[in-house]
Amino acid sequence: MTSCGVLISEVGPRDGLQSVARTMPTAAKRAWISALHAAGLREIEVGSFVPARLLPQMADGAEVVRHALGLPGLTVMALVPNQRGAEAALAAGVHKLTIPVSASAAHSLANVRKTREQMVDELRGIVALRNERAPQVRIEAGLSTAFGCTIQGAVAEDEVVWLAEQVVAAGVDEAGLSDTTGMANPAQVRRLFQRVRAAIGDKTGAAHLHNTRGLGLANCLAAYDVGVRTFDASQGGLGGCPYAPGASGNVVTEDLVFMFEAMGIATGVDLHKMMLARQALQAGLPGEPVYGMTPQAGLTRGFAYADGRRPATEALLDAGAGAA
Ligand code: ZN
Repeated sequence: MTSCGVLISEVGPRDGLQSVARTMPTAAKRAWISALHAAGLREIEVGSFVPARLLPQMADGAEVVRHALGLPGLTVMALVPNQRGAEAALAAGVHKLTIPVSASAAHSLANVRKTREQMVDELRGIVALRNERAPQVRIEAGLSTAFGCTIQGAVAEDEVVWLAEQVVAAGVDEAGLSDTTGMANPAQVRRLFQRVRAAIGDKTGAAHLHNTRGLGLANCLAAYDVGVRTFDASQGGLGGCPYAPGASGNVVTEDLVFMFEAMGIATGVDLHKMMLARQALQAGLPGEPVYGMTPQAGLTRGFAYADGRRPATEALLDAGAGAA
């Protein structure tokens, strides 16, 4: 959607669902993804291709991808950790692959038992596979723990910039920065995105920011201010944060959409229709906590979207089902 000011990339069906112990039934995933698409989201990370014994929540990836491919105008994205996952995702027909690469040396070893250099080699193999089998598919590397790591603490900015250069040299189309552990602050976000952009230019990808300490929106705004235009977010902040019970993990899509639209920056997302998606999410995972201030408070009196549309009612949660 070139008319949009920013692209909100919804990661709930992957990032959210894989951090919930229960598995959402496949039919419920399909209904939720359809509702997210109906609300105007045009990029959705619908699953990950990892061994089912490790993440049974994601075992139906190919089936979910097949459904999402039927939704017009949607970029269907999947996370893959390695070449085997990439093969399965490409066979399923995804439009875009995202591969997490830890900026923290300690996190990389703990998480995937590979050094960062070995992960860059893995990326090179995935790029070769893509070039051979599906050259139209885009590849994004998500530099996780870019703003700090719960194992080693600080992650040197020089190393993040170095890694961004390495993954671009390996052939990825874009490199985004992820605040996997919720440690980022706005000054750091501004500085690091600027440094990465100076190094890799328009291959700078999405901001994946968390709300663990309540700084999610402030960090998104800081990234916007230095030119980032794609933002990962999760409906209802789904998944929570394993390190801080009661605090949401991913930035809440509804709150992020409200912030941008209120500022006059178009997202293409309709917040009343997002309430229908929220109901679909809750129907698929009854009792799972969901977060978000805007759904609770509703829209501001006289609210208008960036494109001038005015909703019929300012209430959200109460009015969700009724508002067309
Ligand atoms: Zn996340």
